[in-house]
Amino acid sequence: MCGVIGIYDSEEIIEKIYNGMLTLQHRGQDSAGILTFDHKYHIKKGNGLIRDIFDKRNLSRLTGNIGIGHTRYPTVGEGSAEDAQPFWVNFPYGIAAAHNGNVANFLGLKEQLLKESKKIINSNCDVEVIINIFAEYLNRVGGPKVTPAQIFDTVRYVYRKVKGSYSVVMHIAGQGMVAFRDPHGLRPLLMGRKEHIIPSYGFASESVALKAMGFRQIRDVPPGSAVFIDQRRRVHEQKLDDKPFRPCIFEYVYFARPDSFLNGINVSLARINLGHKLAARIQKENLDFDLVVPVPDSARTAAIEIAKILNVKYREGLVKNRYIGRTFIMPGNKIRKQSLRHKLNPIDSVLRGRKVLLVDDSIVRGNTARAIIQMVRDAGAKSVIFASYSAPLTHPCIYGIDMQTRSEFIASHATPKKVAKKIGADQVVYQDLADMENAIASENPRIQHFCMACFNGEYPTADVSKGVLRAIERERKSSQNGS
Ligand code: 5GP
Ligand code: SF4
Ligand code: MG
Repeated sequence: MCGVIGIYDSEEIIEKIYNGMLTLQHRGQDSAGILTFDHKYHIKKGNGLIRDIFDKRNLSRLTGNIGIGHTRYPTVGEGSAEDAQPFWVNFPYGIAAAHNGNVANFLGLKEQLLKESKKIINSNCDVEVIINIFAEYLNRVGGPKVTPAQIFDTVRYVYRKVKGSYSVVMHIAGQGMVAFRDPHGLRPLLMGRKEHIIPSYGFASESVALKAMGFRQIRDVPPGSAVFIDQRRRVHEQKLDDKPFRPCIFEYVYFARPDSFLNGINVSLARINLGHKLAARIQKENLDFDLVVPVPDSARTAAIEIAKILNVKYREGLVKNRYIGRTFIMPGNKIRKQSLRHKLNPIDSVLRGRKVLLVDDSIVRGNTARAIIQMVRDAGAKSVIFASYSAPLTHPCIYGIDMQTRSEFIASHATPKKVAKKIGADQVVYQDLADMENAIASENPRIQHFCMACFNGEYPTADVSKGVLRAIERERKSSQNGS
């Protein structure tokens, strides 16, 4: 998962885009980049956190009223600085882009571009493939002044070629800004407007970023749709594909910020509802505990609700070192395990002698859960029940979340009882799959179903064969070797 931003403004945008990027840091801590345009492209990208990559000197050379920003979470490739986004090509016009998602047929398209178009894709970054496919078609149809119809045709061509998830923000030099979302709308993308003599426009992966940049009138870019903002900043928009809308449910479970609205649903409210559903389930199972403790930070909202509904004491029993990054985002299992030990610390006096219900958003590989349960026991807890407010994760995500091999999941071949044994809990309780979907869908009646492929194996893109899954798994495993 990554964070993207695009701005088309009347004034210099660097300060704005930098502030917007900071609100999307949680979506990727591996690398980041900003590209701006005045009469030419200016670009700075690098590895690490935004605050480490950008300084006064490099920000001052990023001039212009148009910009694209990106925070990266690696899915394909090893995360070198060259793989950081945005990318740009000089032909035709000059096209720059960044995206959030994962191109499932990346390797096939890379090969095809080489064989059929004699184009080398030099990075492991899938947006380079998207730009090249877009550029190839636009070159065929576009004249000196590109029309909205030509842009929409080109996006249709991208839809036919590129499989997987992608929310793309693009700039075409001398023509305008384009944003589009894949046919199923798997990844989020929002658009904001700011009134001026000529209005300014912004695009971002989460509504918080648009707010931070001063945009109002914020709304989602619809799935399978493209928006083209021309040189006079007139907006052209078209729905190009009407495949079923399947936004990623994991955004609400874990990924997005609680203060964001995605697809008309506030993430915090979604987590409150998830807490309610899980409380009902816990009640049915008649579990024995006298203290509810969240695994910070994502689980706090749901845990508070659970404690309130079940009338059990709620306490913060784990303290998080906020200066250490999200453990899951760290690529590779070894580094993940190490950083976890420095990240959380138990409060013995809260936990000692208690029968604890630990609440977390999910159990993926089980490393976090196992380590935390051990910590809580060492602090003197009498018993530990582990509750996940999402259902058991059992299938790889091929749409941009770093869990791509089936063997990574602790619940793939194990019942909750077995999972409990593996992670050292007295009991494990999971959210029911349908409850999980209903809890979130109830916030927006226009969404009936989400992508829940990592929970149920039903991939919205029809073209996910076992072969594709195996290829992704192989590539993933080989790039993890040595990490
Ligand atoms: P586990 O140790 O079970 O593999 O990891 C589960 C923990 O990682 C949970 O506490 C959850 O907050 C976090 N987590 C789950 N899924 C993701 C994800 O896709 N991305 C990130 N960054 N963290 C995740
Ligand atoms: Fe989101 Fe899971 Fe679908 Fe991936 S498979 S897009 S994480 S719901
Ligand atoms: Mg967590």
